[in-house]
Amino acid sequence: MNTERNDAAAAAPSNFIRNIVDEDNRNSKWSGRVETRFPPEPNGYLHIGHAKSICLNFGIARDYGGVCHLRFDDTNPEKESVEYVESIVDAVRWLGFDWAKDGKTHLYYASDYYDRLYEYAELLIERGKAYVDSQSAEQMRATRGSLTEPGTPSPYRDRTPEENLDLFRRMKAGEFEEGAHVLRAKIDMSSPNLNMRDPALYRIRYAHHYRTGDRWCVYPMYDYTHCISDALEGITHSLCTLEFEDHRPLYDWILDELADAGVFTRPLPQQIEFSRLNLTYAITSKRKLLQLVTEGHVDGWDDPRMPTIVGVRRRGFTPDSIRLFCDRIGVTKVDSWIDMSVFEGALRDDLDDKAPRTAAVLDPVKLIIDNFPADLAEPCTAPVHPHHPERGERTFPITRELWIERDDFMETPPKGYFRLFPGNKVRLRYGYVIECTGAEKDEHGNVVAVHCNYFPDSRSGTEGANNYKVKGNIHWVSATHALPVEVRLYDRLFKEAQPDAGGRDFLEALNPDSKRVVQAYLEPGGEKMQPEDRCQFERHGYFVADRYDSKPGKPVFNRIVGLRDSWGKPA
Ligand code: ATP
Ligand code: MG
Repeated sequence: MNTERNDAAAAAPSNFIRNIVDEDNRNSKWSGRVETRFPPEPNGYLHIGHAKSICLNFGIARDYGGVCHLRFDDTNPEKESVEYVESIVDAVRWLGFDWAKDGKTHLYYASDYYDRLYEYAELLIERGKAYVDSQSAEQMRATRGSLTEPGTPSPYRDRTPEENLDLFRRMKAGEFEEGAHVLRAKIDMSSPNLNMRDPALYRIRYAHHYRTGDRWCVYPMYDYTHCISDALEGITHSLCTLEFEDHRPLYDWILDELADAGVFTRPLPQQIEFSRLNLTYAITSKRKLLQLVTEGHVDGWDDPRMPTIVGVRRRGFTPDSIRLFCDRIGVTKVDSWIDMSVFEGALRDDLDDKAPRTAAVLDPVKLIIDNFPADLAEPCTAPVHPHHPERGERTFPITRELWIERDDFMETPPKGYFRLFPGNKVRLRYGYVIECTGAEKDEHGNVVAVHCNYFPDSRSGTEGANNYKVKGNIHWVSATHALPVEVRLYDRLFKEAQPDAGGRDFLEALNPDSKRVVQAYLEPGGEKMQPEDRCQFERHGYFVADRYDSKPGKPVFNRIVGLRDSWGKPA
């Protein structure tokens, strides 16, 4: 065994699934082979919940020197499309994973197995393990029984294999209408597990499939397809969310029957369930996300407020921060809610070190330094990153007229306010100490300009700077040199932590203030930022140049997250 893989696996945070893999390796169950798969249905865009499954499956494969397959579980012809396939491929790649090993690409489609799935269904029929039921859907539902009562066998349950085979072939040939017959596994109508009461394996659907076109009018069910796809691909550990726990006996039954029939050899893939990710202030149901898009509550799948992978990408989250988040939340068997602040915290922890700093004024008001020469533009310098002097310095001019934040001035300040008010001194960050002298107002009483004088001997970085003790330190940009930019201040899409809990109408929990667009002023140099470049606007938070709307020399910014978690607290 190669030691590199052991090191990586040992270094990763452990969880019960890794313990199972370790145990299998100790017992040489798979001769050290580890193959997982991520099996999305291409019926929508991936969301942050899928990221958990992606990081888990691809992460285990990576750490054990194995491979994770990307498999499209595409057996519902009506809802699937190439658009979704492409978006899923992009999302997984962007998260930093791939599905190649030793020059082989492990990208699969369940629809490529239709022939074999069909062949195995005939085999089960021949072996007396499946039958064609001709009851209506209502009859089947009515005879299925309940948790307390056993089901009633179908009157068609004892059809001979010959009769079943004939009917199944005619189903495939298109001789019957939808719903006229289904193929069912012949297991146990009185099983305490409802999934084992002769579950459907195939149904008739006259639907066009985005890959197989009109070739098929019988389509296999998810439970039948999934285990067989795993076995065909040689998956060792098939990880899925907890709602499939009750389906595991069926998963095992189908593979056991096919192993008995000589189709597969043992050991057979093992299904292992883990808890799904529920993130507060977000929704992780594809159906509900689709509703947000189609009803226009957001600007599309990649709206920066959407918990889709394309949405969080556009919002500015990094692949590293998403992987960090998934590591932090871990993997258990207990369903729980993870607070949005954990996700945002991972972004801050990732970007704090990486993001260059810059000044931006988001709610500008003029500051006029009355004793500053009108034609002077004096260069000031600041570190690109306060903890990384090796990343160099940025230079920007101070001039007589500046932009500052509107709330950095108050005419009559409350106790504890240390910024600008008449008679008070503050430091202009990386510049001079100033003393406020007053403000100009319009006829409605709104402040249109703040006035001050500066102290020429107080410049940051000079000896004189130490002679001034001030409590306030505010950021600013030169009004004559700043870059005007559009900034989109995004906030959480929902105002309640569990917008769809208890079957509630999640639309009622939409946050009406989740998007605010402002015209801001950015430190000169900002025009060099490329789409998806991220930075910290000092005192404000982390921002990204929008990947679609930024133009050369004219970036448009999205707020990713503020500097600290202030959600729900008064501003
Ligand atoms: P659908 O309602 O369409 O079935 P789904 O969310 O289950 O939606 P799939 O495409 O079937 O979507 O999911 C692919 C994989 O991602 C599955 O293995 C599924 O268990 C996993 N997954 C989906 N949602 C979550 C989640 N919230 N947390 C963790 N894993 C998830
Ligand atoms: Mg699913």
